[in-house]
This record gives sequence, structure tokens and C-alpha cells, in this order.
Amino acid sequence: MHICQNCKLAGSRHLVVFGDGSVNADILVVGEAPGVEENFQGKPFVGSSGKKLSIILKSLGADKVKMFITNVVKCRPPRNRIPSKTEIMHCLPWLKAELDIVGPLVIIPLGRTAMDTVFKMLDISYEGGITANRGKTFSKDGVGVFPTFHPSYILRHRELSSEVRSDLKRAIDSAKRRR
Ligand code: URA
Repeated sequence: MHICQNCKLAGSRHLVVFGDGSVNADILVVGEAPGVEENFQGKPFVGSSGKKLSIILKSLGADKVKMFITNVVKCRPPRNRIPSKTEIMHCLPWLKAELDIVGPLVIIPLGRTAMDTVFKMLDISYEGGITANRGKTFSKDGVGVFPTFHPSYILRHRELSSEVRSDLKRAIDSAKRRR
């Protein structure tokens, strides 16, 4: 089997972590990169950030909504550092393929790295970071884009949980309306 060697993350990863979920999903959730747990299990968002995200989604009844969850880069950067521009560029064909296959109605980028990557990929113009853009609705060719904070950030800033909850709710409601 050919395993991706497109960038140097290949040298330190344990498993490649592709997206997971329904390929007919209405919602595509995009995180930054696999962490320790994801690197070992080969699945996205199975560690503490993923657990936080699941709790919020469950409280919104969204465990019954079809979702596909993935990351900007598919291999863990050492010590969970932010993936470099080069690593993101080499990994982009995988994210584009996931987007093409799933064909979501709504995309939810989690955090700055995912937001910058998704906006660039879709050629959406914007200004500022995640704090300036969360809570806003963007759209491209009929697909809604709802950036919000990364769940690891709200683990450190619990007071922001309600913002993430309301962003996710707006995204889910929008996906239902677009169906
Ligand atoms: N953080 C991410 O961005 N993605 C994961 O899969 C896990 C933690």
C-alpha cells in the first residue's frame, strides 16, 4: 500500500489520520491536525478535544446529524506544533478530495489554521483571525462556512464554550435549511 510521503511529518507519525464519518454528510468539520491519541488510533478527534466537541454536539442533538470530521493535515506534527505552510500545502489535495467526495452543505472550520486553510481553498475573502470571524456566516457556491474556536482552545478558556455552542447550532440549523 502506498502511504503518503509528501512532507516530513511522514517521518514522525505513527498512523495517517484521514477524515471519519458519513461520505454523504451535510456537514464537514475541519480541525487542525491529529494529536497524540489520534496518531495512535488513526481516527480524528478521539482525544480530549474530540470529547469536548462530542459533548457539545450531543447537547445540540447533532449526534443524529450526518457529519464528516477531518483535519487540515493528516499526520501529527511533533509536540502538537501548528503545521507549517509547506506541510499544509502538501496535504491540501487530501482535504480537497474529502470536500469533493462529501460535497457538504456546510463547513465548520475549527480554529485559525482550519479557517485560514478553508477560506484560501475556497477563495473566500476575509480579514482578521478566528475571534473576529467566528459567529459570522460565509458562503461559497451555496456552501455555508461557519468558523468557530477550536475545542482545545475552549478547554483552556471554558467561558467560550457557549460561543462555540451557538456557532455550531447556527451551522447545524443552516445545514437543515439548505437540505
Ligand atoms: N485536534 C485537531 O485539530 N484534530 C484532531 O483530530 C484532534 C485534535
